[in-house]
Amino acid sequence: MTVTMIKERLYGKTLNELIAVARRVKLPGFAARQIADWLYKKEISEIDEMTNLSKQMRSLLSGEYEVGLSAPLNESASSDGTKKYLFKVLSDKYIETAYIPDDDRATICVSTQAGCKMGCIFCMTGRQGFQGNLSSNEILNQLRSLPEFRKLTNMVFMGMGEPLDNLAELLKSLEILTSEWGYAWSPTRITVSTVGLKSAISEFLEKSRCHLAVSLHSPFDEERRKLMPIQRTNSVKEVLDIIRNFDFNGQRRVSFEYILFKGMNDSPAHIKELARILNGIKCRINIIRFHRIPGSEFFSPDMEETIRFKEALNAKGILTTIRASRGEDIQAACGLLSTLEQNRNNQG
Ligand code: SF4
Repeated sequence: MTVTMIKERLYGKTLNELIAVARRVKLPGFAARQIADWLYKKEISEIDEMTNLSKQMRSLLSGEYEVGLSAPLNESASSDGTKKYLFKVLSDKYIETAYIPDDDRATICVSTQAGCKMGCIFCMTGRQGFQGNLSSNEILNQLRSLPEFRKLTNMVFMGMGEPLDNLAELLKSLEILTSEWGYAWSPTRITVSTVGLKSAISEFLEKSRCHLAVSLHSPFDEERRKLMPIQRTNSVKEVLDIIRNFDFNGQRRVSFEYILFKGMNDSPAHIKELARILNGIKCRINIIRFHRIPGSEFFSPDMEETIRFKEALNAKGILTTIRASRGEDIQAACGLLSTLEQNRNNQG
């Protein structure tokens, strides 16, 4: 019987973690920076490609470690250029990653968890329940193994899962993305979206310089509680207080995501209350027309209603934009593809 040793993955490790790896396998201290360079700047996929490490050093490293990249299992392409990729994670779970080209921008939307605990009732991923946190390897592999990797200009953490519910791995990923020894991306190219976890928002704001997006969807306590159970323990008021008291200096931005549901959260009373609760916060609202999921009690507003809502908010002095709905023909609503794949595997 042959026993296969499971090797630890180097890709997704921070410089400090690589220093610990070098120490562990008795490589000289400078090797950690060289390894980081190969992983994040020179885009290798095998340890043997790290040619400025001696053969003996590579062999020591390969004894316990591998680079640890994994290609997407499949892809679907929309007529508008959006692509959706399915990755296998946590040995038997599935997550989705979207590639969204738009003029001179090319954005990747990554997942941070398989499934999600937050249970927002309009979301397909929420229906899957929580299946596990992704490691920084699995988060960043979505970027590195994307066929369009070299075209990317922006990254949003708006895929499956609640990023701030996986804070440690999120912060590691952001460190690798923005450090000079890593990908050296400007933090202003990265946006992290959250339902609003109070304690984690404060830590995220302190420890990273990336943009923040908060999912709002209703300014009214009772209504938001029905849409998003998180409102029971982390009210929007508390989240807004944290944001109000934080110094968003320089280019750092805070925005609010607002999924517009027909006849539900699109009234003049909503506009008035939004203006009231956001008063004094320099922000923008991104309106997203609801993307209907199977069996949903909600409906999508038409474009005219959406534009009216946007203009009314602009008239109140809140910078508001409508996020174009992309990839509607490829089930781009987050969680649909992975649910299908999980069901197929469970049956099969
Ligand atoms: S909307 Fe986001 S936070 Fe809410 S259930 Fe879906 S994935 Fe989780």
